[in-house]
Parts: sequence; structure tokens; C-alpha cells
Amino acid sequence: MTPEGLGETARGGFRDECGVFGIYGHDDAARLAYLGLYQLQHRGQESCGIVASDGLLRSERAMGLVSEVFDEDRLNRLPGTAAIGHTRYSTAGEVSVREAQPFLIACKHGQVAVCHNGNLPFATEERRKLEREGAIFNSTSDTEVVLHRIARSRADSVEEAIPEVLRETEGAFSMLFLTPDALVAVRDPRGFRPLALGRLDGAWVVASETCAFDLIGATYVRDVEPGEMIVVDEGGLRSSYPLPERQRSFCVFEHVYFSRPDSMVYGRSVNESRHKMGKRLAIEQPADADLVVPVPDSGVAAAIGYAAESGISFRFGLVRNHYVGRTFIEPKQSIRSFGVRLKLNPVRDLIRGRRVILIDDSIVRGTTSKKIVRLVREAGAREVHVRISCPPTVSPCYYGVDTPDKAELIAARMSVGEVRDFIEADSLGYLSMEGMLEACGLPPETSCVACWSGRYPTRINTAAETQYAREREPVPSD
Ligand code: AMP
Repeated sequence: MTPEGLGETARGGFRDECGVFGIYGHDDAARLAYLGLYQLQHRGQESCGIVASDGLLRSERAMGLVSEVFDEDRLNRLPGTAAIGHTRYSTAGEVSVREAQPFLIACKHGQVAVCHNGNLPFATEERRKLEREGAIFNSTSDTEVVLHRIARSRADSVEEAIPEVLRETEGAFSMLFLTPDALVAVRDPRGFRPLALGRLDGAWVVASETCAFDLIGATYVRDVEPGEMIVVDEGGLRSSYPLPERQRSFCVFEHVYFSRPDSMVYGRSVNESRHKMGKRLAIEQPADADLVVPVPDSGVAAAIGYAAESGISFRFGLVRNHYVGRTFIEPKQSIRSFGVRLKLNPVRDLIRGRRVILIDDSIVRGTTSKKIVRLVREAGAREVHVRISCPPTVSPCYYGVDTPDKAELIAARMSVGEVRDFIEADSLGYLSMEGMLEACGLPPETSCVACWSGRYPTRINTAAETQYAREREPVPSD
């Protein structure tokens, strides 16, 4: 994978990994949103923002981590009893604050802010059309198309315009809107990405993951259902199902990797799923070895399961420096390669002379895995057996998880044996599709497994996205 390759995939900014948080009915709305976003930092580390309402919407957003962006002064500029917030990561070439969400506009319906976790593959065409008609865009984001369509809607209010627009929007969206007097949460009819609803005193909260509720002392009530729109305003909470019904397609990768293990996603503990994936992996892909070592943090829960099932001792043979961001999150390949050593250090005493089973959640390009296997070998391991708690990743995600083009996915080009040789492991074993789904307690018919099967639950629009990304020059930063 070349650095240029990363830019190509990413330039359009269409494949975001994001976290969303919303609150209505609390005097300290922006501060609670800030805390919620803190907990959702793992879902996006490039930029973040909050829009709050005290009858007027105000926005603060910037590049960087939640802890870097928000301080006392900034939060004081966000008075009000309702707020929405966003953490964003995209491999987008243009690392610009203009891409940071929530987006805030003023239109004939009044002020509207939006933030989005997901991806809208057909927004590209819509955007071209709008641009031809003279529309001005501030970012390269697909989410902005939704705002343009709301602004153009003949509906009487934003609340009516939202379902009108989203009814015709294909793709993955867990979306929050804020108007001067209402919070609106909508989840696409397939429910690709999670969205949870909670309660804090008299206030309502929504978040990508329930770990955001724990910090602020909110209780998890239920998920926002696929196809559901929830409006919270002075009159309380109203739920409706204005979107067309579709077969559910919950993203299983949320359980494999993306969500935090202390979250409930689709009503199920992520930690429990990962533990079971590890146990199942030990049955399906046993190895004769001395130690089970997780790649921290992504492999920890599965490694504990693997060790429990196999009876082989679990040891933290790799220590992670927690002050470095996730490897993949860095926007440049050069930083990313450097990042592996920066981030992980082997415990030599533990590893020397031992046969090690290394557990991780996935192999994408194979470059990180290769470096980790080398680290472990250089620390004196006698054998390195890699075990992965999901099937080989063979197809990109078009529903909101950043994955590279198919050509860069190592398992799309190579057999398991070839991947093993590439990463220089003594053996390599993946969890089966059935094993993974069973471990997650997710029925195959309501799950999206496109990144492992190549079968997408919707139409996809690769050509338009790639073409658009190539043509478009980066928007200059503010
Ligand atoms: P590699 O060996 O280069 O394919 O990198 C594999 C590592 O990337 C694993 O540790 C995964 O946890 C991590 N990973 C997989 N998918 C993603 C993603 N979409 N974003 C960030 N990291 C990821």
C-alpha cells in the first residue's frame, strides 16, 4: 500500500468512522455532550464538535481530540439545554475543519445542525446534481447533501422535511439533528450502525454506544430502532417509523472491532461477543503453544476467551503505549508504519523461547500484523501463531467503516497460506463466519457481513465514489 493509495481512497471523505451523541432537556447539555464524546473518542479522532441550543444554535468544532478541542471557555460558548456532538475520523486527504461535524446551517426552516455516523453511497450523484444547479458546499461530506435537501424541501418544518428527505436516502445513517427547539434522532431502516437511547434525570440522551451513557450516569433505555425517528422537544419524546421497511443489516464489525467492549451494541454486550469469538476460535483454530498473547487493545477480549477455552495461559506479552492514537487513525502512511513500534513493545522476558499464539481481531492490509509478528519474533519467540477473531476481510465497507479499496485488502488478493507467509507467521487461522455470528448472537439474515462475504445488502456505488474522489481537489482548510 502506497501513501498515494491511501489518498486516492480517501480524498472524497466518504468513508467515515464516527461517533454521535445528543442530549435534550439538561441545563448542562454541552458539558454532558463533551463527556459523551470523550467516551466515543475511539470512533473518530480526527476532529470533533458540539452544537448547543438555548433557542439559538451555536457551534464549536475543530481538528483534534475531544480533550484538546474543548476547554472551559469553549464550553461556556455553548449555553443551552440541548446539544449534539460528533467525533470524526476519515482517511480524507483534506484534513480540514470544514469536514468536522456537526454541520450547522440556516435555511428557510430556520437553523438546523446535523451529525452523522454512516455513509451515503448515492449522495455523490445527488451532490453533482446540486452543484450543477449552483449549490455551494462547504465540505466534501455526503452528510451535507442531506442538509441541502432539507433546505429545499417544501415541507412545513424541519421535522417534516427530515423523513421526506431520508425516505429517499440510501445507505447507512445513524443521524442526529438539532433545531433551536428539538432534537431528532434517526436510524436507517437496515440499522447498519448502532444508536442507543438513554435517560438522565429528566433528560433524553442518544449515543452511538452505551459507554457514553455510563460516564454521565445515564441509563440505557433501548436502541433507536432501524427506520425509527425520535423527536424530543418541549412536549416530550415522540417516536415514529417514517422510513420504508427493510431487512435489517446490523454491522457485525462493530462487535468484532469497532465498538468498545464495555458497550451494549444492538442490545448485546460487545465484551461477551468478543469473549465467545475467542472461545470459538480456540475450538476452530487450535495451536500447540505456551502463551496466548493479545494484540492490545483490539485482541484482548478474544484472547481471554481463547485462553479460557484452550487452557493455554493468557499473558500480556505486548504492552501498549496508550498515549499514541490507534495506528490506523493516523492520516499518513509514514506515520502509521512508525506508529506500530511507537505503540507496542514486547515483554521480552515473557516471550523469549516461547511458542506464542497472537490474537487480533482482523487483518486488513497485513502491514501492521507483519510488523507485530516481527516484534514478537525479535523478542525471542520460538514460534508465532496468529489467530484472527473474524473471517478474512475481502471487501470494502460502504456503510461507514473505513476500509481500503479491495486491491489493498490482503485477503482479497491472497490465500490464507499466502497471508501467513506475508505476515511471516508460523501459522494463521481465522474464525469462521458461522462461528463469528454465533458468538455475537446475531442471526445471519439480519447481519451485514459484506466485508467478509463481498455480498452487500444494498446497491453500492463504487464507480461514482472513486471517480468523484479523483476529480475533486481538496477544499482548503479554514
Ligand atoms: P493490518 O495488519 O495492517 O491489516 O492491520 C490490522 C490491524 O488494524 C488490527 O489490529 C485491527 O484491529 C486494525 N483495524 C482493522 N480494521 C480497522 C479500521 N477500520 N480502522 C482502524 N483499525 C482497524
